Amino acid sequence: MKKDISLSDLISDSGMTNGYDPNAMSVVKAKAWIANFLKPTDQKETIHIKDALNRIVAEPIIATMNVPNHDNSAMDGYAMNLDLLPDHGPFKLKVTGKLFAGNPLEGNLEGALRIMTGATIPYGLNAVIPQEHVELNEGVITFQTKPQANQNIRRAGEDIKTGQTILKNGRSIEPCDLGLLASLGIDSIKVYRKIKVAFFSTGDEIISLGNPLLPGQVYDSNRYSLIGLLKRLDVETFDLGVIPDDKKIIEDTLKKASDIADIVITTGGVSVGEADYMKDILKKIGEILFWKISMKPGKPLAYGKIGKCHYFGLPGNPVSTMVTFYQFVREAVLTLSGQTPVPKIPIIKAKLLGPLKKIPGRTEFQRGAYEQDDQGTFKVSPLKDQGSGILRSMSEANCFILLHEDTAHLEKDMWVDIQLFDNLF
Ligand code: AMP
Ligand code: MG
Repeated sequence: MKKDISLSDLISDSGMTNGYDPNAMSVVKAKAWIANFLKPTDQKETIHIKDALNRIVAEPIIATMNVPNHDNSAMDGYAMNLDLLPDHGPFKLKVTGKLFAGNPLEGNLEGALRIMTGATIPYGLNAVIPQEHVELNEGVITFQTKPQANQNIRRAGEDIKTGQTILKNGRSIEPCDLGLLASLGIDSIKVYRKIKVAFFSTGDEIISLGNPLLPGQVYDSNRYSLIGLLKRLDVETFDLGVIPDDKKIIEDTLKKASDIADIVITTGGVSVGEADYMKDILKKIGEILFWKISMKPGKPLAYGKIGKCHYFGLPGNPVSTMVTFYQFVREAVLTLSGQTPVPKIPIIKAKLLGPLKKIPGRTEFQRGAYEQDDQGTFKVSPLKDQGSGILRSMSEANCFILLHEDTAHLEKDMWVDIQLFDNLF
């Protein structure tokens, strides 16, 4: 595939590229095409670290101090200068000083120093013996084994050294990172701004919650699945409701969405028959590719741009919406957000607990429920109902069984790839 091809090139002359077939597009190819047109945001903002969980580091964090910034005791015990001990035990030392973390020295360093965890090791002392390893009698400690040099001393800089890069550009901030930043005294951090995603459902039969359902109508479930998915991806969302299959209203809503968002997602209206209709609207206000992806569920998919805004037209069947979101939109959102590398969806091998049916020729994402046995082996049961309208199967599942294009029916006990939901569903 040519990497530098533009979206308009591709739309105007798709024959210029090898293997580009909008009527049989593989998941991998479609993803690669979309990746060509995604550019991470370069807009940054400074926020307090307490608000920084899951945000993306926009400038590397370099340590300006050592952590810890002083040698300190790793134990509650007694610090000493080993050079003053005789060659053989038992050893006896008078306790002549006391040092608690964050407090000044009491007494002197002539004998053993009673020291608590985290207290600075005074100059000249070179080992700490834990309190459990000594006998204390009338202010004198006795122990049998000579401690090793530097035993139980945490060295300055052993956690972080001045000048060390502790968080790279593009990292998604984890709870431990917040602690790490705090340990360096850093209270605010530059992150990329959140990606903005607008979405709406389409369909004359789709009804918003709170209204009675007439014959032939269904409640809008996709918008709520999307709300959940987008919340997990931690983006800013614009919920534009349900839009009837009306060219003018869809056009106006798309324009409005593309003005406010980086990505607009619609569900419904991209399948054969309906696609021409969406095609007309999108051609008029943007650039658009319609693909029949060789995958089940989730065959129709539209990707394009309306101005600077990326457009994803997902199929309306509730399971197809979720599968295409996971396979295509997730990666796009993470790429735009500046996260590098974009984490791959975890795929592991699992043993089939029952047979499953599959016709070669397209990738299938069957819903499965996996468990791990006591030996650590992953085992997966294909769910009974695999229809793309059966949202219950998504709720009962905890993974996709990923069946590659050429795979046919599989028997019990065969090994398959499972794609974990990875805390997105
Ligand atoms: P479409 O992709 O518009 O052809 O829709 C395919 C199927 O999904 C139809 O049965 C629709 O009624 C259903 N559907 C479309 N959008 C939604 C939605 N937002 N919520 C629930 N079902 C939907
Ligand atoms: Mg429809």
